[in-house]
Amino acid sequence: MKSRLAPDDAKALLQASINGELPDERGRFGPFGGRYVPETLVPAFERLEAGVREYLHDADFQKEYRRELREWVGRPTALSHAPRLSKRWGTEVWLKREDLAHTGAHKINNAIGQALLAKRLGAKRVIAETGAGQHGVASAAACARVGLPCSVYMGAVDIERQAPNVDRMHRLGAEVVTVETGDKTLRAAIDEALRKWVTDPSGIYYLLGSAVGAHPYPYLVRELQSVIGTEARQQMIDQAGGLPDVAFACVGGGSNAIGLFYPLLGDDIELIGVEAGGTGDGLGQNAATLATGTPGVLQGSYTIILQDDDGQVQETHSISAGLDYSGVGPEHALLQATGRVKYVAASDDESLAALEELCETEGILTALETSHAYAAARKWSQENPGKRVLIGNSGRGDKDMPTLTKYPVRIRTDASA
Ligand SMILES: *Cc1c(COP(=O)(O)O)cnc(C)c1O
Repeated sequence: MKSRLAPDDAKALLQASINGELPDERGRFGPFGGRYVPETLVPAFERLEAGVREYLHDADFQKEYRRELREWVGRPTALSHAPRLSKRWGTEVWLKREDLAHTGAHKINNAIGQALLAKRLGAKRVIAETGAGQHGVASAAACARVGLPCSVYMGAVDIERQAPNVDRMHRLGAEVVTVETGDKTLRAAIDEALRKWVTDPSGIYYLLGSAVGAHPYPYLVRELQSVIGTEARQQMIDQAGGLPDVAFACVGGGSNAIGLFYPLLGDDIELIGVEAGGTGDGLGQNAATLATGTPGVLQGSYTIILQDDDGQVQETHSISAGLDYSGVGPEHALLQATGRVKYVAASDDESLAALEELCETEGILTALETSHAYAAARKWSQENPGKRVLIGNSGRGDKDMPTLTKYPVRIRTDASA
C-alpha cells in the first residue's frame, strides 16, 4: 500500500529535489503531482503557470514581497528557545514562531505573496476557498492590503462551525460565498471556487491556501512558504550554535511543513511530519493521509489520499479543523516515498495534552493543528534524550478557544513542576 520507489530512483529524485529541480516541467514530483483537471480549466492553469514563471523570481516582485513580509507580516518571526519544556522532555527544544506572524499563522506568507502575484497578472478579483476560515481571513487581509476585491468560498457546514472567522472576513472587506453542494465543507468549497474561476480566467485570480492541487500550486505555495525554513535554519545557527537533530511540523495540506522542511532537505536533519490521528485508525476516524492512505487523484493532483477500496474519497476527522483534509500535497508524497521525511500521526487526546503542557511551561497557547507536532516531538524526545529539536509552531490557538472550552483544564497542584 505505501508507495515505494526503487532505491536508485528514490536517491536520484531526492537529489533532484535538494537541487531545486522539482517539480519537473510537467509539474511532477517524481510519480506524484501533475495536473489532472477538466479541459475547461486548462487555460486558467496555463495562464497562472506562465505568470508564476514570469514574476515569482523576478527581482522587482521579490523586492516587493520581501518588503511586505518585513513591514506588514512582521518577519522574520522569532526563534524561541523553550527552556522549561526542554527540562521536562530531556531534549533541547526550539520553536519557530509562525504564531507571531500577522493574522496568527504561517498562512499569511502565502496569501500576501499570491495577492501580489494577482496584481501583477492584472486580475480584477480574487477568489479563495477556506475550511476553518484561517486561509479565508489571511486572503481577505492580503487582498485588502493590495486593494483587490476578494470572495471566499466556504461550505455551509463550516460557516456554521466557524462563525467568528466569517465575521473577521466580512470586516476585512471580503464577501463570503456559502457552498451548499457536495460535503458542504472544504472539498466542496475548492470545487466551487474552481467552477467560478473557469467563468473568467483572466479577470479572476484563484488564491489557493495550501501546497495541494494541480500544478503550479504545490510549487508556488512551497516557494512562498520556504521563508519559514530559510529563516529557521539561519536562526538555529545564530542562536543555538548549530542545526537541529530533528525538525517537526504538522501536516494538513502540507504548506507549513514543506515551508520548514524544504530548505533543510540537504542537511543532516531528521524530518518528521505529523498528521491528525483523530480518534483511531479506522477510515473516517482520522486525517492521517500519508500514514494510512493510498495513491490516487484528488483535486487535480496525483498524491496520497484517504479512499475506500472503490476509490471513494473518505470523510476525515480531526479535533483541529486545519488538518481535517483527505489529501496531502504531492511533494510530501514524494518525500515519504524517498524515505527522506517520515510521517506519523498524533491523536486528538495526545495533541490536547501537548497543547496544555506547552501553555503551562512556555506561556504559548498554540493552535490545535500545531499541537500535533508537539505530541510527536514529545514522544521522540523520550527516545532521544539530549538531542536538539526544532518545532514549527505554525499558528496561535486563540481561534481554538470555542473547542478548548469543552475540555476543562486539569487542576494543577504544583505550579513549579
Ligand atoms: C491551516 C493550518 C495548518 C494546516 O495547513 P498546512 O497547509 O498543512 O500547513 C496548520 N497549522 C495552522 C496554525 C493552520 O492554520
